[in-house]
Parts: sequence; C-alpha cells; structure tokens
Amino acid sequence: METKQFKAESRRLLDLMINSIYTHREIFMREIISNASDAIDKSYYKALVDDSLTFEKDNYFIKITMDKENRTLKISDTGIGMTKEELDDNLGVIAKSGSLQFKKDNEAKDGHDIIGQFGIGFYSSFLVADEVTVISKSSDSNEAYMWESKGVEGYTINPCEKDSIGTEIILKLKENTEDENYDEYLDEYKLKALIKKYSDFIRYPIKMDITKSELKEGTENEYDEHIEEQVVNSMVPIWRKNKRELTKEDYENFYNEKHYGFDKPLSHVHISVDGAVSYNAVLYIPEKTPYDFYTKEYEKGLELYSSGVMIMDKCSDLLPDYFGFVRGVVDSEDLSLNISREILQHDRQLKLIAKNVKTKIKNELENMLKNDRENYEKFYESFGRTLKYGVYNEYGANKDILKDLLMFHSSKEGKMITLAEYIERMPEDQKYIYYAAGESVERIKKMPQTESVLDKGYEILYFTDDIDEFAIRILMNYKEKEFKSVSSSDLGIEANENENTSEADNKENEELFKAMKDILSNKVKNVKASKRLKNHAVCLSNEGELSIEMEKILKAMPNNEAAKADKVLEINVNHEVFKSLKAAYENDKDKLNIFTDLLYNQALLIEGLTIEDPMEFANNMCKLMM
Ligand code: ADP
Ligand code: MG
Repeated sequence: METKQFKAESRRLLDLMINSIYTHREIFMREIISNASDAIDKSYYKALVDDSLTFEKDNYFIKITMDKENRTLKISDTGIGMTKEELDDNLGVIAKSGSLQFKKDNEAKDGHDIIGQFGIGFYSSFLVADEVTVISKSSDSNEAYMWESKGVEGYTINPCEKDSIGTEIILKLKENTEDENYDEYLDEYKLKALIKKYSDFIRYPIKMDITKSELKEGTENEYDEHIEEQVVNSMVPIWRKNKRELTKEDYENFYNEKHYGFDKPLSHVHISVDGAVSYNAVLYIPEKTPYDFYTKEYEKGLELYSSGVMIMDKCSDLLPDYFGFVRGVVDSEDLSLNISREILQHDRQLKLIAKNVKTKIKNELENMLKNDRENYEKFYESFGRTLKYGVYNEYGANKDILKDLLMFHSSKEGKMITLAEYIERMPEDQKYIYYAAGESVERIKKMPQTESVLDKGYEILYFTDDIDEFAIRILMNYKEKEFKSVSSSDLGIEANENENTSEADNKENEELFKAMKDILSNKVKNVKASKRLKNHAVCLSNEGELSIEMEKILKAMPNNEAAKADKVLEINVNHEVFKSLKAAYENDKDKLNIFTDLLYNQALLIEGLTIEDPMEFANNMCKLMM
C-alpha cells in the first residue's frame, strides 16, 4: 500500500506546527469536536429535508473515550462520514488555504504562537498525537475506510470494518517530555474542562464515560466505583443563552471556535428579537482585516440557522457590502429549512432580519465611536475603506447610514476626526469643509494649495485613500456644508482688503497670461494670478467636476487613460520668478517659451503627476544653465 504525500502547503504548515514550541496544544479538542459537530449538522440537515429519511434525535451525538493503557483518545461521531475520496481530499490538504500565508506574514511579529490564534482544523490533532487514525463510513457508501498518518511523511487509506455511519478519530498521544505532559489528555477532569471551555454550546450531546464513586452501603470509608455515561456540554448555543450570563471570554471563545478571525473581536452584539420576525444573533466586529478582505475572493456573510439547524454557512444576503466585515450567526424559527439560495434571496423574513441586523451593526459602530474611541479607531484603520466605498457605491443610496461613521485625517489634530467634529469647531465665517487629496499626509502637508486655507485658520481634511474624494463627491455635503477641495480654482475665501486682489493682477497681466496659455496650448484651461500661493511660484488648480487627484486615480485604472481634469496654472505674482517671466515676455520670446514650459512641468511634479515630455524638460533646463 503506497503512502500518499500531503499537498505541499499542508506539509510545510504541518512541519511548522509540529516543530514549534506551542502553548495552545489543547485546542485540538475544540477542532476535532467542531468537525464532528459539522458532520452531524450535515446528516441532521439531510434527514430533515428528505422525507424519505427518518431521524431520531437521540442518534446524533459525539462520544469521547480514552484508553490509558494504550495512550489513545478516541472521538467518535454519528455524522455524515467520509468516502474514500473524501478522506483523501479533505484530510490530505489543508482546509484553510490562507493559513500558511498568514503564518508567513505574521511570523516576524508574533513568533510561533500564531497557530493558537486560529484553528488549523483537523491537523491540530498532530499537536498532541504522533499517530492519527480516522475510521469513517459515509452515508453514500457501503464501505468503511481507515486513514492513517504519522505526520509529515504522509498517509495511507485502506478498507476496514465499521458498522454504523460516522467517523472515529483515534489519537495516539505523544510521549511525555520535560515540558509537556500529554497524559493529561487521558484525564477525565482535564477533558471535561476542555469541553466546557471550548465546546459547551455544541448542540449535540458530547458524551463521556465518567467514573463515579459512591460510599459503599453500610461502610464509612469504602467506595464503589462504577462508570456512568454523562453528557458534559450544556448544548445551548451561545446565541440562545441569556447575555447576562455570558462573559467577554465566552464570546471570544465562540469567535475562535468558529474561526471568524485570527484576532480577538473588538466588540460583539447579541440580539434576541421577538416580533414581526423572531431571531437570535451574535455578531462580531473584528479587529484585523482578513488577508483577502479587499479582494474578490473575500466572501461576506453570516452563518444562518433555522431553529438550531445550520442551513447556510455564509448567507450574504444578511449583510450589506459595506458591513461585509461583520462575522457571526443568525438563528430564526421563521425560516423554512429546505430553502434554496435563490428562494432565500426573496424571502420576506430574511429581508426583515437583514434590515434589523444592519441597524444593529450601525448602532454598535456609533456606540463604539462615542464610548470607545480607541477601539473605533482600530476598527476604522482596518475597515474604514469599506465604509467609504459604501458611501460611493449605488450612487450614494447608503450615504445617510454611513456618513456619521466616516473619519479623515485632520490638519489640526494629527489624527482622524469625524465630519461632525469638523463642523463643530468651524469658525463662523467658514463656508466650506476643506479637503486636500494626495498620496500621504506628508505629501499633502507640502502642497502649496493648502497654504492660504491654513493661513485663514481653517482646518483641512487630508484624503489619502483613492476612494476618499469620490465618496465625498457623492456625499456632496455634511450638515448642509459643502465640501471644497483646496485645489479648486475658487476657494470661496474672501481676500483681505489690503491684499492685492487677483482680479487686478489678472487684468494687469492679461496679455502675458494669454501668451503663456497659448504656449501650453490645450494642456491647461487657463493661466491666472494666484490668490492662494505664499511661498511657491506656481501650482495647479482645477475647474470642473474632475479633480487632478481623481484624474490620477482614474488613469491608473484600465480603460480610463483619457480621464482629464481641467487644469489651471496659477502664478504667484509676488514671487521673484514672476519678474523674470515678465522680463522674458517683454524682451525674449524664446525664453518665455522655456520658462512657461518649466513652470508648468514643475507644477505637474508638485502634484505628483508625470511630465509629458521629459526630454524637452531636460533640454530646457540645460538651455537655462548655458
Ligand atoms: P474545516 O473544518 O475548516 O473544513 P478541517 O481541517 O477541520 O477544516 O477539516 C477538513 C475537512 O475534513 C472538513 O471540512 C470535513 O469535510 C472533513 N472532516 C473532518 N472531520 C470530519 C468528521 N468527523 N466527519 C466528517 N468529515 C470530517
Ligand atoms: Mg474544522
């Protein structure tokens, strides 16, 4: 019989795991039991929706037995079982394809304890066992098979005998070492405690043979020992429990058990609603962004149960895209069991639940923002972008739900602030909410366009995400204040009386500016004297809908190369350079050509745009130096 190799990625993870000093070995129990429970879910569900199958609730259980002499621990279930092919497919490759990547990404930060943060499923059995045997009989097959493995070398699959449908996992525990006492996993009390800790809410009975000793009748200190089968878990799912009886740790354990994330949740919402629609739910706001969150691969959704039976593991209709980061379960008696995905989409009950869930999530986020700012900022760091996409998508249909949850960097605070906070401290005379868009806070701070707004004592919101400006254009205003880019040609700031008005400057230099505009032909819409520049010689601003920052973003996307903002070249008439420009206009037209080209290209560079003709730019530079 040939030994099959584990798939490459699984091998490496297995290797890493077995060889790392590991402090959470005990989670293997949670993993094996949760697999058993999933398997029972599947057969239970099958029996419920198929009228030709009968089912007896008592037939669904998990049993733990141990054999101290042989140092084996056995976990059996009456679940759906596995065929030969399924044994090969399911146990030969790691289930969570992202786990190894995650481990790599985080190794530097956290050392080897990462695995303890999340499940590695079935493979965790190798944390405590050096030999694992799986005996399984599927409801789809008459044959039973035995899968055996001693770890990284590989595994074998052979036919074997098993009467009933289901699976047995037999762990041959490792020898004790100085640091690790594996015998404790043969200890009744230890196992009972582990099950209580990690698997108490599993809905099927987890049975164990418990040794009971009773005082022998008629004696004072002689005891009779007998074995009694006991159910060691409470079987009440966490969402059916009273929240007052649950601790933060209970919720965190459930989150880990379910593999909702590698992190600890930032907060949770426990919902019990009785009304037009009745349901229970436990929802979590994770702290960290899942590695695939901002990719197409990410699947949002909540686990959906109907009267305690799982009917879907990721019901996407329960969550709007902008709350796609929420994890958790929803259980309702009002849903029919054999409901298909297609029908479910139009189910009235489900829609009501989704609406309610949405409101609860929004309330929880608002609550965090108000009462737990530190955690809200962590949340926003991970998922703020999704909220901004939410404002932008569907032509702004959801902007009212989301606008109070937005935050941006502030020029005043050096941290993120909300729009409400911005409005609150706006000076009386300020008409607009000002923002500046750029690659990073550092770069924006150096933008010449921010000078006059900051001089006025106005606060500026720094937009560093691609989506920011697009989202804000859709939002249009907040509490009746419109947004204004510091790069827009009209800033809406009154000039001080003693300042030269730019109108006069424009009149005075009308011909020069016209000549420059002709030199730049269709590259700019206009050339004019700047009201905003203090220290810099030139900058670009824009007229019209599309900003320069938006042009940059659109151009980086396929099929948008033609996107073009209407640019205005603004000149600082108080700058030394302006005198040279004027002199060139009067005496040397060739020089004016060169100057104009250089200044325009400078302005492009400041904006982070590329120069259209670098050769010409370089040649012009040289001409000036000669
Ligand atoms: P996950 O549970 O996240 O899918 P695991 O590594 O825990 O990943 O398990 C891999 C797969 O092996 C499961 O998805 C399931 O198909 C199968 N499996 C594991 N244990 C059992 C079991 N007791 N009964 C039936 N199938 C099982
Ligand atoms: Mg699992």
